[in-house]
Amino acid sequence: ERSATKRSVLSSAKEDTKADGRVRVAVRLRPMLEAEIKAVGDAPPTIEIEPEVKRVLVKRDHWDSDSYQFDMAFPESTSQRRVFEEFCQPVVESCMKGYNGTVMAYGQTGTGKTHTLGNLGLTDPSQRGIVVRSLDHILATAEADQEGKYEVSLSYLQLYMETVLDLLQPDKDGLNITEDPSTGEVLCSGAKVVVISSTADLINLLSVGENNRVVANQKLNATSSRSHSVLLVTIRRLPADTSSMGLTQSVTATRGKLLLVDLAGSERISKSGSEGQMLEEAKFINLSLTALGKCINALSDSTPGHIPYRDSKLTRILKDSFGGSAKTSLIITVSPLKTHLSETASTLAFGQRAIKIENNTRIREEVDLKLLNRRLQAELDNINISYER
Ligand code: ADP
Ligand code: MG
Repeated sequence: ERSATKRSVLSSAKEDTKADGRVRVAVRLRPMLEAEIKAVGDAPPTIEIEPEVKRVLVKRDHWDSDSYQFDMAFPESTSQRRVFEEFCQPVVESCMKGYNGTVMAYGQTGTGKTHTLGNLGLTDPSQRGIVVRSLDHILATAEADQEGKYEVSLSYLQLYMETVLDLLQPDKDGLNITEDPSTGEVLCSGAKVVVISSTADLINLLSVGENNRVVANQKLNATSSRSHSVLLVTIRRLPADTSSMGLTQSVTATRGKLLLVDLAGSERISKSGSEGQMLEEAKFINLSLTALGKCINALSDSTPGHIPYRDSKLTRILKDSFGGSAKTSLIITVSPLKTHLSETASTLAFGQRAIKIENNTRIREEVDLKLLNRRLQAELDNINISYER
């Protein structure tokens, strides 16, 4: 009994030291919406998820498909709860221990980024997304921890055309991002910080932020899919009772930071079709998502060299919570529709960069007669063997 416990402690410690800076990537396929089911009829699916082997098949036609490998692959039937528990909870728990971490959603507009992250589940709690589940988990863990005293606080930011706006202070100008030179901590000076103590507090705050987002975007003549939203959660923990401790005893306080990021739509805007503001927005989105891709790519090297965090506001905000000792989970959302196939392929290729295996192995499902014959022969051989016995 005793040695079993010891072993499990050792193995989880090993798990921790193994935590490299690599970004974990999951893919989630959105189910078809009702109108889409009607339009598509019973055509065979274009995108297939193979959860056991963590693979996605993109079927160009019956014989020809591309395959992409991830850390996890969630089919369209996956519940919100499962996505949270399997993919995000480890990040949240690491933040409660005082590490930093990031969970973010990347994909074409309409593929389920906001559903996955930001669904408040007001009418149906089973549809609550990662944000509400993360905060619920943090608050419940804090409540149950007899030895710790917690403070959980939030800031809510929007990044639009390389400007950082505070969604909790809509009249404020763009914020500056700075870095504490001694600790490397990223600071958004002037951002409003609100302490919360219940899920109701969170939902109120997010609703206020969301309203401000709509108003701000109307003023900017923009839609929310053209900006990144960043919810910054800070978790401070102090030992519950410091008063009875002698002065010589050291008090260990921890502070972890969790960033929950709903990225701008990754779709390519055709240069010919768009002009003016649309084109400007597209340039900025492209700049920040390209910078993000470069950082993810650099972090996936076995010996990461220079990580180009400085290339965009987005990656500058992420810097202290992305890679290194920070756990990072990227969820890639894709559409099931054939008309989105080329966007889907480019989204998957983006996520694939974090995983150093052969990219895009093309599978041709041709019938291999020789292989078939060998299999048949093997089966016959087996039958013979059992007869002999
Ligand atoms: P995005 O934020 O990527 O633009 P949304 O989250 O707004 O996409 O999703 C687009 C639509 O698809 C919404 O109506 C949303 O409710 C629906 N949807 C997305 N993902 C799912 C899912 N996993 N299950 C059910 N409906 C979903
Ligand atoms: Mg959205």
